[in-house]
Amino acid sequence: VGRTFDRVWRGGTLATLSQAAEGLGIVQDGAVACRDGRIAYAGPEADMPLGWDAGEVIDLEGRLVTPGLVDCHTHLVFGGDRSAEFEMRRRGSSYEEIARAGGGIVSTVRATRAADDGELYRTAADRLDRMIADGVTTVEIKSGYGLDVETELRILRVARALGATRPVAVTTTLLGPHALPPEFKADRAAYLRLVTDEMIPRASAEGLADAVDAFLEPIAFSTEEVRQVFEAARARGLPVKLHADQLTASGGAALAADFGALSADHLEWTDEAGVAALAEAGTVAVLLPGAFFSLREDRKPPIEALRRAGVPMAVATDCNPGTSPLVSMQAAMTLAAVQFRLTAEEVIAGATREAARALGREADIGTLDPGKACDLAIWDVEQPAELVYWLGRNSLHVRVWRGR
Ligand SMILES: [Zn+2]
Repeated sequence: VGRTFDRVWRGGTLATLSQAAEGLGIVQDGAVACRDGRIAYAGPEADMPLGWDAGEVIDLEGRLVTPGLVDCHTHLVFGGDRSAEFEMRRRGSSYEEIARAGGGIVSTVRATRAADDGELYRTAADRLDRMIADGVTTVEIKSGYGLDVETELRILRVARALGATRPVAVTTTLLGPHALPPEFKADRAAYLRLVTDEMIPRASAEGLADAVDAFLEPIAFSTEEVRQVFEAARARGLPVKLHADQLTASGGAALAADFGALSADHLEWTDEAGVAALAEAGTVAVLLPGAFFSLREDRKPPIEALRRAGVPMAVATDCNPGTSPLVSMQAAMTLAAVQFRLTAEEVIAGATREAARALGREADIGTLDPGKACDLAIWDVEQPAELVYWLGRNSLHVRVWRGR
């Protein structure tokens, strides 16, 4: 451990989320010590090394400290917005009427292709800064609104630029198979070839993608098509994730498990066999209560079955312009607790440790364990349950990213 630290926070309650501990790993009268942006010590202050010294000592005044929040599923970079369409839905327009009026995902694709890099960066940075102010220290950003090689890569470059210029860690995911672009309506196979033979190889060669994702649904892509995409990702050594079983029972969880996916996301229609497959593969179930809320869904993910099978559950915003215009992880956490009946413990673990696992980053972030990045969220609450209970109250006191 050593005795000299850059910074020490003392006098608070820690939720370490350490895998070695029970539950949230609560430590009363806890302290966190940081050196070179890493956690050097986290535990009871009484167990700090004798004669410790630090450049700065900060009194937590009884506040709760958790690992910084990890938003493991967002579509943060896009052109335009869909507020007009949102309003049409309020007035009773159907999804089809909206699509005929030029709305839906295609309208976001059009706006994204038309936006230059500066505009994509600025609008995404605005959303990202709000996430940061909400306690997020790591965020995943998917492409998927370009649907051509250049725009998909452009979105990923903007995501990388956000990570390089904002005080937050960004991981990127190529989501070429998000929807069939209109110009390929007559030739699905040609679009799939574009994804497998150009998008994935180029994103990989240019170091732009940390993972590959797809949307498996009758309205999007089939099992066989997603298999082709996942094979291409595997050939490049890229891990996969999947939008699975959101609107229909389409075998998404089983397919994700089959490829050892980092995560299977949504899961409203996942059955017992799918849950068992996720458990077997160690794939994280990512729950997206913002989309469930915005779409006024009534079919819930099989929480009890996931729990019984021991599938790790994460919670994310799914921030996107169509079905989840949500930029607050704190709100996502409350929505998950209320709508899906997750416990405070499950929600907090789902927004930290399990979300890190869903990104394959569990060795580096997500818990207050020595050696990990010193990413902390210091909350104006004293009890973990309080963090999940408030809705629309930003409970963040201070966020620490890489020790600052
Ligand atoms: Zn999504």
